[in-house]
Amino acid sequence: MNKQTVKVVGGGLAGSEAAYQLLKRGYAVDMIEMRPLKTTGAHKTCDLAELVCSNSLKSTEPETASGLLKAELALMDCMLLDAAKQTKVEAGGALAVDRKKFSAKVEERLREFPDFRIIREEFTDFDDTPTIIATGPLTSDVLCEKLKSISGGFYFFDAIAPIVTDIDMDFAFWGGRYGKGADYLNLPMEKDEYLAFYDALINAETVKLKDFEGAEVFEGCMPIEVMAKRGVDAIRFGPLKPVGLFHPETGKKYYAVVQLRKENLGGNSFNMVGFQTNLTFGEQKRVFSMIPALRNAEFLRFGVMHKNTYVNSPKLLDKGFRVKGEKPLYIAGQLSGVEGYVESILSGLIAGVNMARELSGKDIIVPPITTISGALAAHTTACTENFQPMNSNFGILPFIDCKDKKNRKKEYYKRAMCDIMPFVENLDK
Ligand SMILES: Cc1cc2nc3c(=O)[nH]c(=O)nc-3n(C[C@H](O)[C@H](O)[C@H](O)COP(=O)(O)OP(=O)(O)OC[C@H]3O[C@@H](n4cnc5c(N)ncnc54)[C@H](O)[C@@H]3O)c2cc1C
Repeated sequence: MNKQTVKVVGGGLAGSEAAYQLLKRGYAVDMIEMRPLKTTGAHKTCDLAELVCSNSLKSTEPETASGLLKAELALMDCMLLDAAKQTKVEAGGALAVDRKKFSAKVEERLREFPDFRIIREEFTDFDDTPTIIATGPLTSDVLCEKLKSISGGFYFFDAIAPIVTDIDMDFAFWGGRYGKGADYLNLPMEKDEYLAFYDALINAETVKLKDFEGAEVFEGCMPIEVMAKRGVDAIRFGPLKPVGLFHPETGKKYYAVVQLRKENLGGNSFNMVGFQTNLTFGEQKRVFSMIPALRNAEFLRFGVMHKNTYVNSPKLLDKGFRVKGEKPLYIAGQLSGVEGYVESILSGLIAGVNMARELSGKDIIVPPITTISGALAAHTTACTENFQPMNSNFGILPFIDCKDKKNRKKEYYKRAMCDIMPFVENLDK
């Protein structure tokens, strides 16, 4: 008997996870991906699950919301999380990956299923095939217009950090904050170097953005030059924070420290942590090369700023990322109003599971609200006013009244890990 086919539109993070969840439940998947025929401006390859900016999937520590989300996903057989663990590069308490190897692993896992096909074309309109739309924050214009006409749509602006190589190690040292690990490469600056850099940064030329006036910049991905304009010390309390960082041999402390995170397993290219930017490429080279260790650095990729689109999910979606109405249609990933790599993966997983359930006559299920997964899923459908994309954070969980903040996080973790179990056990019942 021929298997029923589901279209998964978008071979990004959410689409790849949704496809895996469908394939492992016995459905055929046609993945429709427009790259390389048409690209997004942020993607650089035609790889599946390409990480467009940082190579970090954030913390794995259980007492962070991001760590808790990963712990929940691990219980749900999340393929992309597994692929990330298999291709990780050392990054202290964070899960960072070699992005090429990560994409290759994702594609390899999907191709293990004979009923998986990739169709390289732009998707512009719907038909009656069960479909999951996971076209991301940079959904192509034609599809954007289509979605806006049914849901209303919004956007904000997001930025990418540069990747560099050829660091001058005479002006750099390895080490984590407060002596924790040695996975970050630290680029220290003296006061006069910092002030000269700061002055250049706030006066540097930026790329003119159409529609920028009045548009929101997502706080968690704020360009370094925008943050710098808040005051001379703003970035010294942010990405250039020197606290807890001192030279491992001399014990010397510095006025400001830029941190680099390994980009690849070879450890010879680095992401500039917190250096998302909208400076012109020439200005990035000029200004960032004022950091002593980057004097002769090569910029493998410059930072860029992009429009980031999402739909009006509370109006458009029912629970489980399903579009209201008769047709089996789901919207997953950043387009659905979750924010972040792992959050996008989660929504792809929930949409994939529920599409499979719906096609086999079962009810839609969502994780309980006391889990980060459930709270994120609820946010996209139940947010009543001023809907904005949401990343994982403890603020979206029902509050636990507990005086000590550290203990409260432990309690959130304990409650979530306990409450998620019935959901996990019922995924296929
Ligand atoms: C500039 C930028 C930087 C970001 N940086 C980070 C970061 O550092 N950390 C973080 O956690 N999150 C970041 N995000 C947010 C978000 O986590 C990522 O965008 C993530 O990739 C979203 O996953 P997704 O699956 O929803 O979309 P994507 O991974 O973008 O996948 C969507 C796919 O759909 C394809 N597509 C689009 N339109 C069509 C069409 N009409 N037909 C066929 N295919 C189509 C695209 O080519 C793409 O492959 C960033 C977002 C942007 C825009």
